[in-house]
Amino acid sequence: KGLTVLVCGGGNAAQVATSMFASRYETYAISLYADEAAKWKKHMMGGRWHDKVEGMKLTLDTGKKLISTPTDISNDPSLSGKADVIILAVPSFAHGQYFEAFYPYIKPGTIVACMPARSGGDILFASKMKEKADSMAFVGFETLPWACRFTEWGKRATILGTKGQILAAVTPESESTRAIATLQGLLGVYPAIEKSPNNLGISLRNPGQVIHPGVMYGRWCAEKWDGKPLAEKPLFYQGVDDFTEKVLLGISDEVQDVCRKVEALIPGFNLKDACTLHRWYLDSYKGQMADDSTLKLSMNTNSAYIGLTHPMNPVDGGFMPDLKYRYLAEDVPTGLCFTRGLAELLEVPTPTIDKVITFAQESLGKSFLVDGKMAGPNLGETRAPQAVGINSKEDFFKMAKIACIG
Ligand code: NAD
Repeated sequence: KGLTVLVCGGGNAAQVATSMFASRYETYAISLYADEAAKWKKHMMGGRWHDKVEGMKLTLDTGKKLISTPTDISNDPSLSGKADVIILAVPSFAHGQYFEAFYPYIKPGTIVACMPARSGGDILFASKMKEKADSMAFVGFETLPWACRFTEWGKRATILGTKGQILAAVTPESESTRAIATLQGLLGVYPAIEKSPNNLGISLRNPGQVIHPGVMYGRWCAEKWDGKPLAEKPLFYQGVDDFTEKVLLGISDEVQDVCRKVEALIPGFNLKDACTLHRWYLDSYKGQMADDSTLKLSMNTNSAYIGLTHPMNPVDGGFMPDLKYRYLAEDVPTGLCFTRGLAELLEVPTPTIDKVITFAQESLGKSFLVDGKMAGPNLGETRAPQAVGINSKEDFFKMAKIACIG
């Protein structure tokens, strides 16, 4: 049976997803970023779109190669009206732009999946799709199914590794069987999609919102760094010290406080996947940590992290930290700001998160948190519920389609 897939984005993930799905189904790629779609189409076709088709080659981690050609690569959002499945394989700051552009065209029954969703993807989707949201299935993935890179932009890509399993949640829950079966069919046998009970669990689980901003703060806050260049790039995960561990535990505990408050308000609501950061390491890197007895040691002794350094830029006299890197520029707005905004609605104090957001917004030259409220002029760039006009917990639960307290 025919299935039409639309893949959004133009980076590593989007090129890999497009060539994988195009090998079996009618697949379109869309990029709304500058002239990326036209460039990609030109590269793929060697400039000859109607004449000679060069197509794309994807090397899988099994060693197999897939050769395929997407039906079109375009910047036309009306393509969303043809799609049965829309995959957002683009960094999370761009999701809202795609949802907004698709709103006039998208049809009932469409499955819209974000890989990865980061935090609050379901809320953003509901706010941009307005009355149409109820007739579609939003799927939030905890991460990308693959570690992947394009090797020749627009033409060749490689899957370096495929996850064994991956969590995904569907809103509304009534659509989960159909949506997960369809997406599993697209991905193949691996990764096995494990159904998470709800998108709030995916949002609050988001390990990137804790690890990346927490480790950046722990190394580069005024207490720990004099602002001068360093001779060498410090280790990111292996370099986590007692100070940084305390920051990470502080953020993780405050996320747990938010979870407990939601559970107290909605008895029986299942946030099992929104675990502590230490639990996440125990579940995700089992066997790869020489000593997993503490959070710090789980990071310091993790074989997946050997040699990984802080993002640094070369300067005269050594290296300076890149404080505009995605560890702050993506993980704060579309991760930590969601959790902080929800905490505010639930009246849960977040002293550690507040310190880290304050550091991040100064580093980024933005303003999200002002006088203890998610109300800064750059709030619109974040996933804080307040950014889409949600100002009470009742409104939040309604938007999240969570059966509410009275
Ligand atoms: P990428 O950096 O290759 O994505 C770049 C793309 O993002 C561009 O091609 C463009 O389409 C879009 N983009 C960039 N700037 C934009 C802007 N200002 N406005 C609108 N669009 C813009 O990222 P990727 O490697 O494809 O990863 C996609 C997501 O998956 C990210 O969130 C990433 O953290 C996550 N992820 C990737 C991998 C991987 O192996 N590639 C692994 C795990 C998670």
